[in-house]
Amino acid sequence: MINKIPKQVVDVLQRIEKAGFEAYIVGGCVRDLIMEKIPSDWDVATNAKPEEVQKIFLDLNDDVSRKETTFYENDFGTVGVKVERFSPGDFKYDVIEVTTFRIESKYSDRRRPDEVRFADTLEEDLSRRDFTMNALAIKINFKQKSPKDEYEIIDLYDGKKDITQKIIRTVGNANERFDEDALRMMRAVRFYAQLGFEIEKNTLQAIQKNSENMKYISAERIRDELVKIILSNSPSEGVEMLRQVGLLNYIIPELEKGVGVAQNRHHIYTIYKHCVLALKHCPSKKLEVRLASLLHDIAKPQTKRGEGEFATFYNHDHVGARVAKKILQRLKFSNDIVEKVFLLVDNHMFYYNPEEVGEASVRRLIRKVGLENMKDLMDVRIADRLGSGVPKAKPYKLRHFEYIIEKVSKDAVSVKMLKVNGMDLMKELNIAPGPKIGAILDVLLAEVIEDAAKNKKELLLIRAKELDKEDLSKLREMAKEKIEEKKEEDDKEIKNKYWVK
Ligand code: ATP
Ligand code: MG
Repeated sequence: MINKIPKQVVDVLQRIEKAGFEAYIVGGCVRDLIMEKIPSDWDVATNAKPEEVQKIFLDLNDDVSRKETTFYENDFGTVGVKVERFSPGDFKYDVIEVTTFRIESKYSDRRRPDEVRFADTLEEDLSRRDFTMNALAIKINFKQKSPKDEYEIIDLYDGKKDITQKIIRTVGNANERFDEDALRMMRAVRFYAQLGFEIEKNTLQAIQKNSENMKYISAERIRDELVKIILSNSPSEGVEMLRQVGLLNYIIPELEKGVGVAQNRHHIYTIYKHCVLALKHCPSKKLEVRLASLLHDIAKPQTKRGEGEFATFYNHDHVGARVAKKILQRLKFSNDIVEKVFLLVDNHMFYYNPEEVGEASVRRLIRKVGLENMKDLMDVRIADRLGSGVPKAKPYKLRHFEYIIEKVSKDAVSVKMLKVNGMDLMKELNIAPGPKIGAILDVLLAEVIEDAAKNKKELLLIRAKELDKEDLSKLREMAKEKIEEKKEEDDKEIKNKYWVK
């Protein structure tokens, strides 16, 4: 195990000890080492105060500029020590977080501690940690006499045993620990999803009892744990566990509205179950695609009309995109994620029946969602299919659709991709710059989307001359008609004909 610890981490410990302080490797990385996994980050705990830690590393004669060797910019007594990179990635440095021993202090607003209180001993520091598996420490003996004394694991709460038995158990009284910081309840579920451990009975009961306290936790902290659940190997089990213990109501209550709500003859599962199963079967590892899979039918409860086999959910895609956006904004996700999930949910009902879908309608879809998003959109649709209990991931229909995407992927779907540009038109038609040029280009694009063979310079210039005879409003109408209304017409026709979903 010891040889799995990067030399840079050992160096940090040694420098702190040389300066006369204690230093230990603590937290999740010890757990990961015991489980023979590669830790994602390395945490060090010490009795040196933050300023003292900074001083130790400022005195280094590294070629890294002195000011940049450490940074200390949070309220938790953590100093980031920059070291030469040892993990995969592009940055020049890795950062080892060195945190001064702390003890639990009061959270009077139940959101964050009133103050950070430093502690003198490792024992105190370990006692404030959330779970037994996270309350382990490693001490490296730099003056060891024999190789077997190279390091020592400090395990005051039987954490090692819980790791071996795959149990998530709070350090100390579960009710008290969750009362101090309600986020720990969500962390328990996060570790359940990430590690596949069971939540110990008392711990589980305490979560059920204290779930309401989640309402005090900030959106950012909730988001960070949710992301870890969604990106884990068992995201659907994680979400279902959140529901079972009563936490989901404080995270995505919109999902709960689908619990027990039947769909129609095309579905064997209730709305909620289908959402969770879509997440389970999502073929992508991307956060936004997984979120879109979970949320793609989020508006089905409120768009449901009728009961029984013929119930319908018209517009649930577009309403759902707006609901998903609201949820993700509330949870303080970045704009990129919010917009991407919106796009994927909004468009997840695209039609792909080979007998009906022509190249033009695939080009219209690509124009709407962007070629770069097509793969992700397909993945949401695969998740949707698999999550509805239909066995094949990619029926020949989807494969055919992929083939058309590939085939039309070089076709023009934007004005930029036309074989003529504004300059060409001004020259050919002998007109001044102005809105008419843009309008003519829009009509040309609409026609090229319908028939890619028309994207040839000579043909476009001939057509432009004809269009030049129309006035601006007529041109705008023509472009709009061709692109938007055609698409809507398609949708309507297709939905009326087939889409009883
Ligand atoms: P990961 O592999 O995702 O980094 P981790 O266990 O290291 O998992 P972190 O969020 O990085 O989790 O936290 C580091 C350590 O700090 C934890 O292992 C735990 O000991 C302690 N810790 C973190 N959050 C809390 C909390 N809310 N309450 C008590 N202890 C916590
Ligand atoms: Mg960590």
